Amino acid sequence: MKEQIKYLLVLGLFFLFSTLTVAQSIEKCEITFIKAGKLFDSENGKILTNYIIKIEDNKIKEVGKDILIPKNGKVIDLSAYTVLPGLIDGHTHLMTLDNLKDEYPMAEKVLFEGDALRVLRGAKRAKTWLEAGFTTVRDLGDSGPFLDVALKNAINEGTTVGPRMFVSGPIIISEGGQVPGLIKSQREVVEDEYTIVKNVDDAINAVRIHVNYGADIIKIAANNSPNNTSLTIDEMKAIVKMAHRYDKKVTAHATNDLAVWEAVTAGVDGIEHGYQISDTTLTLMAKKGVALVPTDISKPLFNKIYDIVDYKGDKAAAMKWSKDRYQDRLQRAIKAGVTILTGSDNYLDFEMPQGEAAKNILIAYEEEGMKPLDILKSSTYLSAKFMAKENELGTIKEGAFADIIAVKGDVENDFSNTIFNIVFVMKNGEIYVKKE
Ligand SMILES: [Zn+2]
Repeated sequence: MKEQIKYLLVLGLFFLFSTLTVAQSIEKCEITFIKAGKLFDSENGKILTNYIIKIEDNKIKEVGKDILIPKNGKVIDLSAYTVLPGLIDGHTHLMTLDNLKDEYPMAEKVLFEGDALRVLRGAKRAKTWLEAGFTTVRDLGDSGPFLDVALKNAINEGTTVGPRMFVSGPIIISEGGQVPGLIKSQREVVEDEYTIVKNVDDAINAVRIHVNYGADIIKIAANNSPNNTSLTIDEMKAIVKMAHRYDKKVTAHATNDLAVWEAVTAGVDGIEHGYQISDTTLTLMAKKGVALVPTDISKPLFNKIYDIVDYKGDKAAAMKWSKDRYQDRLQRAIKAGVTILTGSDNYLDFEMPQGEAAKNILIAYEEEGMKPLDILKSSTYLSAKFMAKENELGTIKEGAFADIIAVKGDVENDFSNTIFNIVFVMKNGEIYVKKE
């Protein structure tokens, strides 16, 4: 009897949903045409001229030069601008904003802020990413107990406004997380913020927990500087195997060469930071198709940091030291054939909208010798491809989501100004920014 009721209930719900879907599609079908003066072809890294994009509801229906616009058709005229797929920030921490002057920012957010305030603040920050032209982010930890999943769901259901989020939940990490020397009675502080694993079985179950809570990607820490503990290759291998079983990519925080090499050997799909990678490791990454997310700091943001902390040393020399190393690593990675993805890792308060500060990552790559159209390809097509979403995101083609932005200026010859000059942002067919 119980089974019968369950069956009828399921059947009833099925009919209800199918009627609702039909009703919705009849009611909502809205067609919009965007006139693009210049259009960025993200797959080929080229600029095309005078294209029309036909959008139906939240999807791109057609892209071409000879699309007929009906007499009373709704037209968005972006013919004076460059139209691009929405940008993707591959490394964010929306639930974290550290004060540069604060000695213990971790304690501040975990001990005082609390989950409710933290996620509400995250929601406000999420909006700044969208307004900066990032229609998608990969949020990679520092987000409390799956608060990133909560924010993702709130955005998807329309409760709050923000980019599409692909989230990792807490970072899967070894003893102590990224906090060295915390006294035993305060262990809970790191256990709330990280998923700490003690052995291979723990590592396997950590992935199951994350999948269960709604993580889209698995983020691990191959080394945990400033803490000196690290995951073993066997623990990382177990994580990768389990994550791939659930069709989830694994990306590893890894700063030094040994950590990168161990993570790549264990089979991860991406490396975050990789500040000190040797050529041998880069060759291995290229061979195994492992992507690199260089979370470098731009010159304008370095200057901001020096101002905020009132740096008394030789600013020019300090900046040069860092930038030379970033540039050397980025150029060697490109030369080795490693796929570069864009990721801001922006969790510091630069006293400006955080999404705007995050966009500096694109400027940082340009300062380090990457060409503007290659940077844009990394931030759109390649970042989407990493998530196996290249037919839906980071591209303007038939069948993709209508995540479209426009900038005023010359992206090829005046990149650093133009990329900040956002005049239009559409996500999922809805307009969030439209400047005349
Ligand atoms: Zn990070």
